[in-house]
Amino acid sequence: APVTRIAPSPTGMMHIGTARTALFNWLYARAKGGTFLLRVEDTDRARSTPEATAAIYEGLEWLGLDWDGEPVSQFERAPRHAEVAEQMLASGHAYRCFSTQDEIEAFRNEARAEGRSTLFRSPWRDSDPSTHPEGPSVIRLKAPRDGATAIEDAVQGTVTTRNDQLDDMVLLRSDGTPTYMLAVVVDDHDMGVTHVIRGDDHLTNAARQAQIYDAMEWNRPVWAHIPLIHGPDGKKLSKRHGATGVLEYAEMGIPAQAMRNYLARLGWSHGDDEFFNDAQARAWFDLDGINKAPARLDLKKLESISGQHIAAMQNHEIEDAVRGWAERSGAEVDLNALRPAIGIVKGGVKTLPQLVDRAHFATASRPIEPDEKAAKALDTVSRGMLSELTPHLRNASWTREELEAAVTAIAEAHGVGLGKLAAPLRAALAGRTATPSVFDMMLVLGREESLARINDATA
Ligand code: GLU
Repeated sequence: APVTRIAPSPTGMMHIGTARTALFNWLYARAKGGTFLLRVEDTDRARSTPEATAAIYEGLEWLGLDWDGEPVSQFERAPRHAEVAEQMLASGHAYRCFSTQDEIEAFRNEARAEGRSTLFRSPWRDSDPSTHPEGPSVIRLKAPRDGATAIEDAVQGTVTTRNDQLDDMVLLRSDGTPTYMLAVVVDDHDMGVTHVIRGDDHLTNAARQAQIYDAMEWNRPVWAHIPLIHGPDGKKLSKRHGATGVLEYAEMGIPAQAMRNYLARLGWSHGDDEFFNDAQARAWFDLDGINKAPARLDLKKLESISGQHIAAMQNHEIEDAVRGWAERSGAEVDLNALRPAIGIVKGGVKTLPQLVDRAHFATASRPIEPDEKAAKALDTVSRGMLSELTPHLRNASWTREELEAAVTAIAEAHGVGLGKLAAPLRAALAGRTATPSVFDMMLVLGREESLARINDATA
């Protein structure tokens, strides 16, 4: 069974691209009965604050991407990275290099002046260790110089890099800390990672990482480098295209399941299916559905998918989602008042705050203050009709049929269309002109509250 992972560096927020990469790895593991691991690449001590790490957990938790086992800290594994560098030294796949920064700089200047490659070629590569001086050194990979390093990528196909274009990369710095290349390979190997699905900004790293796997005689993972997310204009995603942090979408009131659906479609497809649930995504997800072209962020599509999810969600799921959104965004929502209205407002909204707004009639309390347009609907004639309606409503059994019959009878008696009476009724019940149907609202509010609101408006 596959073992996948997400390996974010703490940056203070979870980027939407990281969230998508996490989702693909999670889906792949869950689709194949595998394992999804979390490794925090916290070697940059200045940026790796507890808050920045918490932002990673929070992003994954909101999206519902549960990881298996304990999160791994890359920083804490530094001794293991050094141990592997020493092993490579012992096996002859690495060497100590005593060249100073100045010497490397001088090498490059000379190479440039003579029109040669400026890739550093260390004079220590084939030196005899017994001749080594005291003093600071780094450990470099003794990389192959002839031929090429080819990797098989599940998305990009075979990607070949000529070995004369790769230098002997540093594995361990002179202070004993590992480089990123070494740490990633050692961690992935030790964690048993079989599939590395990540952004294609890491594609060029894969050849170098392959050289480390080969030197250690470790099995390489399956690589799948996914094209990055672009803005609607096809340029690299940035703030001006919309929110880049995944939790900003939580604050906007996109339900997590809708975000999963949308992110899955960003760079992966299953025929023409746009709208699907988690079970379908798990059943369908595979690496061959990953697109080769960059995906474009499309907020309209996200909102449309969000609306479809809200319409399809169970009322109690919506209640939980609204509670989470309200806590996150600081909005105050009376969930007890909202609850009975959820069923009639969940169709036709795109986000959770839109749903809450559409349920305003249910969460508002008397006296209902009509807004400007609603006030206009409550003219003298209309208020007269509402007063006539009142005894009929008092006597009706509180069913849709009887409410419709009562309203229709009064409208007909005045020779006006239903809309002419519905408008002031809407204004009285909700104080607004755009609301769910008056019958739906009355059924949610009940007889006493409906009559009291009509009475307030006609008094
Ligand atoms: N820490 C890297 C990043 O956040 C990920 C490295 C990897 O997935 O191999 O981009």
